Parts: sequence; C-alpha cells; structure tokens
Amino acid sequence: MNIIFHTAAAISVTALLTDTNRLEHTNASKHIILTAVVAFVVGLISHAALDYIPHCYPINSKIDVAFGLAIILTLIYFSKKKYRIITALSFVGTIFPDLVDLSLPIINKQLGLTLPTFNKVFPWHWREYSGSIYSGQCSISTLNHFLLLVAIAIICWGRRTDLKTIFEKRNSKQQLID
Ligand SMILES: [Zn+2]
Repeated sequence: MNIIFHTAAAISVTALLTDTNRLEHTNASKHIILTAVVAFVVGLISHAALDYIPHCYPINSKIDVAFGLAIILTLIYFSKKKYRIITALSFVGTIFPDLVDLSLPIINKQLGLTLPTFNKVFPWHWREYSGSIYSGQCSISTLNHFLLLVAIAIICWGRRTDLKTIFEKRNSKQQLID
C-alpha cells in the first residue's frame, strides 16, 4: 500500500495507545518506553494488514515517498518531547517492512543505480500473499482506502484529547517556566 496510508495509520496508532491522562501524571519514562515498543509492534501489524487487503497504488511513488517522509518528520517534530519516542516508533513500525524490503529497489529506480537487492523478507510483499491488484480493477481498493481513512478519522476523533496533548503547542510562558 502507498506509504501515505501507512503513515496515516501511524497517527491513529499513536492516538490509540498514548493514554496522556495517565502518562501526564506519573513518573512515566518506563510507561513511555513500553508504549513506544507496543506502538512499533502494532504499527508493524497494521502494515501487514494493510498490505494484505486488496489495494492499488493511487498515489505516484515519488510524491508518496516525499509526502510520507514530510508527514513523518513534521509530526515527530511537533509532538511534545515527552511523547516523541511514541510518535516516532509508531511511524517507524508502520513503514519498517517497506524500509527493509523496498528502500533499495526504490533508490535504484529513482536514482538510476544498480545497488544489490535481496529477496523480500516480509510475506505480505510476496506476490502470493500481497493484496496488490495487478488487473487495474481498483474499485475494491478505493473502498478499502476509504474505509481505512474513515477508521483513522474515527479513532483520532475518539482520542482527540490525547492527540491535542501530544501535539499541543507550548506558549512562551510555559517555556519560561520549564
Ligand atoms: Zn509494504
């Protein structure tokens, strides 16, 4: 599936797993690390599920990689320091299989290089288990992408208080106190 959909899923993974109410009021470094590890694993599972369901690639691969990367770096930068490791590992988990299996082929393709490539490690990138549609019949893919975005929107809405806390801007007064 396009990287942008995986990164969108990562936002909902962060929102779903980060219980800011609990983490704000405890000496939380142990809980934060644990949550970040779980976020990585859940992100990885979400990648498997999204690659397994039938999908086309509606977004051009160059734009996909550039925007995906921009979203990841921007949201990691804007997340509150305390939660940054959770945000970062959610993103890393959701794109990790593509980093392992696809980065070299993509670099070769985009830069015209011939770096050595290897057999794909993750089964959902193998032809027999991947949901990639090769026939060009993409209506089920459009439906799957739509349902995914609705699910992400519902999760983010349900966890909006946590999202606000994770990405809240600190005003200069707070910064002075810190
Ligand atoms: Zn993949």
